[in-house]
Amino acid sequence: GFRPPFAFTSKDGKELVKREIIVADDTATSMTVTLWGERAKQDDSVFEKRVPVCLKGVLVKEWNGGRSGSLQETGDLVFDSKLPEAQRVQQWWSQGGANQSLVALSQDGAGGAGGGRAPSGKAATLEEVRQHAEMLGTSVETFSCVCRLALVQTKKQGEAQPLSYMACQEPKEGNGRPCNRRLDESGFCASCNRAGKAAPRLNIRCRFVDFGDSAWLTTFHEAAQSVLELSADEAKCIEQGEGGREALEGILRAKYFGQPLQLGVRAKLDTYNGDTRPNVTCFDARPVQRGVHGRALLRDIHSMLGTTPAAAMAAQ
Ligand SMILES: [Zn+2]
Repeated sequence: GFRPPFAFTSKDGKELVKREIIVADDTATSMTVTLWGERAKQDDSVFEKRVPVCLKGVLVKEWNGGRSGSLQETGDLVFDSKLPEAQRVQQWWSQGGANQSLVALSQDGAGGAGGGRAPSGKAATLEEVRQHAEMLGTSVETFSCVCRLALVQTKKQGEAQPLSYMACQEPKEGNGRPCNRRLDESGFCASCNRAGKAAPRLNIRCRFVDFGDSAWLTTFHEAAQSVLELSADEAKCIEQGEGGREALEGILRAKYFGQPLQLGVRAKLDTYNGDTRPNVTCFDARPVQRGVHGRALLRDIHSMLGTTPAAAMAAQ
C-alpha cells in the first residue's frame, strides 16, 4: 500500500516532501518505509499495483514501539524486479499472500506525517468496485469504500452459519508467529501436526451498502472484529452463554446501519473447481474519518461543478 505525499517544513526551514509506502514479504510481515523528495512526489499511479518492489539502503529505526524504515537518498527503489527473491515474494503475494493478514512492524503514522490512519487503495463506491471486479486481469486491486453494514449472513441453507472458527496459535518455526491455520473438529492442526493452543477467529459474510449499491463481502478476522465492534472471544462467549445463538444474532442486528465505515476491499481473480471468477473480500475496516471524507466529497462536488476547490484546498 501507499499513502499520499506529505509536504512540510523542517525545523531548519527546508521544504520537504515525504511519502510512506507499506511493504510486506512472504513472512506475512509488513513495515512502513518513508520515501523522500522526488521519489515521494511521483504520481500515485507509479505506486499502484506494484508488486514486487525492491528497496536498497533502508535505514530502520525504532519509533513509538514499532519499527519503520526510511529510504536513504543513495538507496534504490526498483519496481518489477526479476531477481529471484523478488519473484519469490511476487509468487507468494499472487498465490494467497495478498489475502493473508499481515503482522505490522510499524506503528501507524510512524513517520509522524499528519498522523491518523490513511486508508490504503483507491477511493471507490461499491458500484465502482463491482465494475472493476468484472474487468480484473491477473493483478490484485485494492479499494477504499465508505459504506454501512446492512446484514451479516447468519444462516446458510437453513442451518446456522458459523461466524468463527478455531485457529491454531502454535508458534510457527522460523518466525515464531501464530500459525493461524484452521483446526479440524478435534482441534488438530494439519500444518503443525499436533493439537496445541487455539483461539477463535471471525470469518463472516457481510452485506455492505452505500448510496448506490450493495455487496456481500467475505470479511476476515481483524476487519470483522472492527465491523461488529466485538472480539472473536466475546462472540464465542455470548454464543455459548445463556442467551445462546439468539443473543449473538441480536447483538449483530443492533449494528446494522450504524456508524459509517471505511473498508479496505480487495478484488482478485480466483480459480475454484476450474472456474475463474472475481473474489472480492474485506480485509480492513475502521470508522470513517469524517473530516477527511467530507473534504473529499467537497472536492468531488467542485469537480462536477467545474469550480475552483479553493475552500477544499485550504482545508487540506
Ligand atoms: Zn498450526
